Amino acid sequence: MNYIVFDLEWNQPYSNDISFMKRTKMPIRGEIIQIGAVKLNEQLDIVDTFTVYIKPKFLTSMHKHVKKLTGITQNELNMGVPFVLAYNNFKLWCGDDYMLLSWGVDDILMLRENLLLHTMKSVDYHQWADIQVLYSYERHGIVKQFSLASAVKDLGVTNDKLSAHNALHDAIFTAHVCQKIDLNRALMHYDVVRKEAPNPFLYPPGLIFFMYENFLEKKRIVYDRKGRISFCPYCQHRLESTNPERMQGDYYLSIGICPKHGEFAIQLKVGKYTNSSGESRFYLTKVLSHSTDEIIKLYTEKSALNREKERRYQERRRLQLEQKKG
Ligand SMILES: [Zn+2]
Repeated sequence: MNYIVFDLEWNQPYSNDISFMKRTKMPIRGEIIQIGAVKLNEQLDIVDTFTVYIKPKFLTSMHKHVKKLTGITQNELNMGVPFVLAYNNFKLWCGDDYMLLSWGVDDILMLRENLLLHTMKSVDYHQWADIQVLYSYERHGIVKQFSLASAVKDLGVTNDKLSAHNALHDAIFTAHVCQKIDLNRALMHYDVVRKEAPNPFLYPPGLIFFMYENFLEKKRIVYDRKGRISFCPYCQHRLESTNPERMQGDYYLSIGICPKHGEFAIQLKVGKYTNSSGESRFYLTKVLSHSTDEIIKLYTEKSALNREKERRYQERRRLQLEQKKG
């Protein structure tokens, strides 16, 4: 078996622009513009490298921040190949027996989103491992988010010919990290360690996407009827849904049940955008996917945590009021 260490660069929409999500009909964060990868054999020798530039289908002009970070020009973007062709070539290069590796969860999330966008077969949970988690655990005995740059420095990896934020160069850096931490040994307890880290495979691919616009206020958007009422993607039966619980930041989750088709995860996200008149408004996105035991467990844990937070908040308020009175 070979190890395929990969890294991606992607183009992104401007933060106040929701047209990308409207056109793709997905709550997608970006479009891949470069795949860089390194093939390691079981002895962790670098045996081959791969790189390809991709011409985006939706985000055809470079975001100025991405351009600055990656150095990829509009011209290079225009010369790229379509994603489907690029990814098929990449798969061919990977061979038949391999495991994918990347630094942190961002790249694998982006890859899964782009595969879904192009209705291509996704990667599954056991085909991929997070080098950030393996590095963190091997070197520091904990699961924490270290940057690739800090790991490279910590392990004394030097290569003057390489620059950061080039997909191939970052893949080479990550491959050197694999060599230094003795990947084969590190992978032996990965199944236990990965449970402590965020799981980019938590949600199965979305079945339906909805987007609601033009909210004036952010507060309580997730409790709006549009967010609360959902229908089964298979039989249109109205789902019996739990309260949306905040997972983190502007992300919320509720669980909906169809008597015939079972449990669905209802992911909600609130965001801000600028409308055509230049005014700030808020939107709500909703994605339905199948639910899993892991999602139900997370929802239950978060509900308990959120109730505890609310209880403490009420308690503090009560004390403050009493102090004022006294
Ligand atoms: Zn149903």
